Amino acid sequence: MARYTGPQCKLCRREGMKLYLKGERCFTDKCAFDKRPYAPGDHGRARNKLTQYGIQLRAKQTMKRIYGVLEKQFRRYYEKAARQSGDTRENLVLQVERRLDNVVYRLGFAVNRNTARQLVNHGHVLVNGKKVSIPSYQVRPGDVIEVKEASRNIEPVKQAIELNKDKNRMPWLSADYENYKGVYERHPKLEEVIDLPVDVQAIIELYSR
Ligand code: SF4
Repeated sequence: MARYTGPQCKLCRREGMKLYLKGERCFTDKCAFDKRPYAPGDHGRARNKLTQYGIQLRAKQTMKRIYGVLEKQFRRYYEKAARQSGDTRENLVLQVERRLDNVVYRLGFAVNRNTARQLVNHGHVLVNGKKVSIPSYQVRPGDVIEVKEASRNIEPVKQAIELNKDKNRMPWLSADYENYKGVYERHPKLEEVIDLPVDVQAIIELYSR
């Protein structure tokens, strides 16, 4: 699966907000956005008023960048969300929230989604006791996500658990750090995904043009 391999901090600067793509570094004075809170490039400091289309485009780019999903797959998520019954915004958020790499990150087994993706890709993660190495795998309610026994001592996992063990989990997840396991208890509701700084309706409007 293709993924963005360029500089992460440039994405925050482009979107004009901290997207927290690097884990703990984002909370230190090394954060590139804190140092240069304007878009990269020669015209990065210019203040252009965004058109309606521009606002919608930025919303879509921001959401893709937060979850580390490229355009083709993100459009597929939208198309599936639009076909489903119910609120298309909630359906779209659910598509990305259910990704295995996102769930590994949300459970606190990785410091950011990029590292979570690598853990999955490299076969360090089990779902219901079986290895799953596809980051876009859609987790279902009741699935048990686990760091493989032989991988529990690798540095990215140890570091993440140390940082996250005392933090609150999202309410649709439960974690058991003693056993390197977590459960995706249920699907989240749109209003529960409180750390998504995006107007999802603008994305729906963009794709349904
Ligand atoms: Fe974004 Fe700052 Fe984190 Fe870089 S360090 S990814 S600019 S929040």
